Amino acid sequence: MTVKKDKVVEMHYTLKNDKGDVIDSSKDKEPMPFIQGHGNIIPGLESALEGMKIGESCDVSVNPEEGYGVHHPEAIQEIPMEALKDIDNLKVGMELQSQDEKGNPFIVRVKEINKDTVTVDANHPLAGETLHFSVSIENVRGASKEELEHGHVHSGSCSH
Ligand code: ZN
Repeated sequence: MTVKKDKVVEMHYTLKNDKGDVIDSSKDKEPMPFIQGHGNIIPGLESALEGMKIGESCDVSVNPEEGYGVHHPEAIQEIPMEALKDIDNLKVGMELQSQDEKGNPFIVRVKEINKDTVTVDANHPLAGETLHFSVSIENVRGASKEELEHGHVHSGSCSH
């Protein structure tokens, strides 16, 4: 069975940045399951995996446009410390929920804590990065009707 739309794929992966630092890996964990063709994983990786067979492995480099997006400088903002006074233990790297003009929630990360302001960044932590994946396809199976309706993999007794 090969990787194609509506198949549940289990893969092992290691993700490195341009410098060769390991950013994330499924090593020592269960392989990561996802449904191909449903946007569960970044588009550049999804298209590279299409047609692969169980037991195959490959190295894929994904540019930011096909990964977590380009880096938007305007997504970095300085906000008054006063606006965050209700947040306990504010620290660099913390994720906060913010809202756009239409009230849609989005996540920002605390980038710097200054004297009277806090610099927050709404870019994805991997925005602007070229991503280098080493992947191996561990299993491919058909998705259940329910999984396709939900657009995500059900494993074990999980039934949400
Ligand atoms: Zn579900």
